[in-house]
Amino acid sequence: MPSPVPRTTAFRRRPSFRGRRVRRRAALPGAALVLVLLAGCAPAPEADDRPVVVTTFTVLADIAQNVAGGHLRVESITKVGAEIHGYEPTPGDVRVTANADLILDNGLGLESWFERFVGELDVPHTVVSDDVDPIPIASDAYAGRPNPHAWMSPLEARDYVDAMVAAFADLDPAHAADFRANGDAYNVKLDEVHDELAAGLESLPPGQRALVTCEGAFSYLARDAGLTEAYLWPVNAEQQSTPGQIADVIDFVKENDVAAVFCESTVSDSAMRQVAGATGADFGGVLYVDSLSLPDGPVPTYLDLLRHDVRTIVAGLSGTGGDS
Ligand SMILES: [Zn+2]
Repeated sequence: MPSPVPRTTAFRRRPSFRGRRVRRRAALPGAALVLVLLAGCAPAPEADDRPVVVTTFTVLADIAQNVAGGHLRVESITKVGAEIHGYEPTPGDVRVTANADLILDNGLGLESWFERFVGELDVPHTVVSDDVDPIPIASDAYAGRPNPHAWMSPLEARDYVDAMVAAFADLDPAHAADFRANGDAYNVKLDEVHDELAAGLESLPPGQRALVTCEGAFSYLARDAGLTEAYLWPVNAEQQSTPGQIADVIDFVKENDVAAVFCESTVSDSAMRQVAGATGADFGGVLYVDSLSLPDGPVPTYLDLLRHDVRTIVAGLSGTGGDS
């Protein structure tokens, strides 16, 4: 069976602030050699001498940019639309990251490529999910491991913000007060988005509160919103859906009379369209999770991403949306 998530009847309360730490990794023996080799092909120094923060994906980069204000230069290793779970870093990624002053990664097993990658570099590194209370994956080969998609809950994202505030203050103490102020202001926006999501999703009738997606990326949002979750595969690292997974989701959609099913922007939607075809459910549209869109697309920022997804989910499940 796909994996229903325990649900609550009300939205969760906002958590209080918790402190955190910056992880620093000792250089491995090969790191000096890597850096010497990289030095020969480093780009010419630029006029921009702000400290450089590198993130593993675009969602983290957007949050970091909001916390950093203009004081830090923020870059994402993976670009818009990339499949981030099984990403293969390029030599250019290694070069940029080796010259960074701080690396931010999601953790919770999201970036399966990242441990080896960062282990070769002598750059301070912060796991922004350290204070998240993880939800374990319920089924399949990943059962029991933490679901990495904690940013899909704006309440959990507050922990990401606070982690960045602390890490940036360590990196650039002269601007620590600005980072705190930026983080506080961004957390207010996250609370506003949470309240919008609550209002939108609470409008769904009790019989239309099942969320069916390709990847099991919505466990945190489903928990916050009191939705039942089902999916084709738990994480995109094994996105090849099996006939058994498809059959289980078809059964779930039929048993729960689900009005619409969805798929994420970074994977093929063909298996989910097969589910829609076999059940009569609408294909409710594209949800964004692992990547923002380009600036002129539907979700150029993380806050846009959350709002887009909730609008799409509410429209699909209430029978007023979908593009099938
Ligand atoms: Zn994902």
